[in-house]
Amino acid sequence: MDEARARVAACLQPLTETETVPLSAALGRVLAADVISPIDVPAHDNSAMDGYALHGADLLAGQATALQALPTTVLAGTPFTGVVARGQCVRIMTGAVMPPGLDTVVPIELCQVQGEVVQLRADVLRPGENRRRQGEDLACGRPALRAGQRLRPADLGLVASLGVPQLQVFRRLKVALFSTGDELRSLGEPLAPGCIYDSNRHTLTGALQRLGVEVLDLGLVRDDPAALQATLDQAMAQADVVMTSGGVSMGDADYTRDLLAARGEVGFWKVAMRPGRPFAFGPLHGPQGRRPLLFALPGNPVAALVTFYAFAREALMVLSGARPEPLPRLTARSAAPIRKRPGRTEYQRGIVEPTEEGGWQVRLTGAQGAGILRSMSEANCLVVLGHGQGAVAAGEPVTVWLFDGLV
Ligand code: AMP
Ligand code: MG
Repeated sequence: MDEARARVAACLQPLTETETVPLSAALGRVLAADVISPIDVPAHDNSAMDGYALHGADLLAGQATALQALPTTVLAGTPFTGVVARGQCVRIMTGAVMPPGLDTVVPIELCQVQGEVVQLRADVLRPGENRRRQGEDLACGRPALRAGQRLRPADLGLVASLGVPQLQVFRRLKVALFSTGDELRSLGEPLAPGCIYDSNRHTLTGALQRLGVEVLDLGLVRDDPAALQATLDQAMAQADVVMTSGGVSMGDADYTRDLLAARGEVGFWKVAMRPGRPFAFGPLHGPQGRRPLLFALPGNPVAALVTFYAFAREALMVLSGARPEPLPRLTARSAAPIRKRPGRTEYQRGIVEPTEEGGWQVRLTGAQGAGILRSMSEANCLVVLGHGQGAVAAGEPVTVWLFDGLV
């Protein structure tokens, strides 16, 4: 596994073309340049509380204070232009600009108000409290976000808070996708004896869409050299990445192997993993010097998706210009024994749940055959058992990769 992942990593040339998109279309896109803040955020010192703004110097340690309240309230969006003298205070709402000279806000619930007099008990607060400083979120000229960031909702809000309406992002990575196999049928077609519906194209389209890449769906290809050649040529002419499923296991790979050998530097690998042993990968030689990368995933539906997570997911992030974000992982106790042979990495499908003691427990989702897609659909994680690891006893800690979260 480690060697296979290293070989994939060695082939990754991130794309460089950029485009400008409005903030409203930027979710999931990858920043091509740092975003530098053109303003201080917040632009002024302002109140963090509803209460009374005052001179911190009027608070004397160990002494109660009585301040005279001005007959006005400072609201967010309407700065107060009057003067607040020493010994005075003014009612202020959260987000309102601090009046000149005032540096402290006492929350309303700590005040005893009698007519125009605000009484504060000794030591209820210290000078400077409950004031948000100008530029404390982000100072003018500082980088707010770095190139390579895949934009999440909070990032969009941060950019909006700077008043920046559009962003320079990398163009979307284009991934051509097709399935291979005589037995496969597309949705809507009748199912002849011995045939199955093509599920991989839909699983992989979903996985690719979550990464924010552009998917070019080239459909189904028969187990036939001419058909494979035609579809591959179309994919190489248009896409940055060609992703296929099926047809790479030893049984039917002969003509695929010859064909791919003639079109690039594709290695047919037998990876020490389960599921997902057969996997072909390498740069293709497309027209006009194009070098699209081929990820030929195994046909078994679970193997196809596990291989995608193990090899393609982070590679596609890198190719998209992004910093790769590995799947979040945690350690959980296995609810039951798990059979496992040393000498290969296993990816079992599991459901991880919090325990009453505050830890995590994981149980496998039923039959774990490489073709049993239900095991994947019911799962919320992969239980990853390392190369050298043997059988797991009940209660033993194991590593899990969470499916949901960052992606
Ligand atoms: P292959 O890798 O072509 O030998 O296929 C291995 C197994 O996966 C066979 O049982 C295929 O029928 C099945 N398979 C291959 N491609 C798909 C697909 N796109 N959707 C569902 N099952 C598939
Ligand atoms: Mg096949």
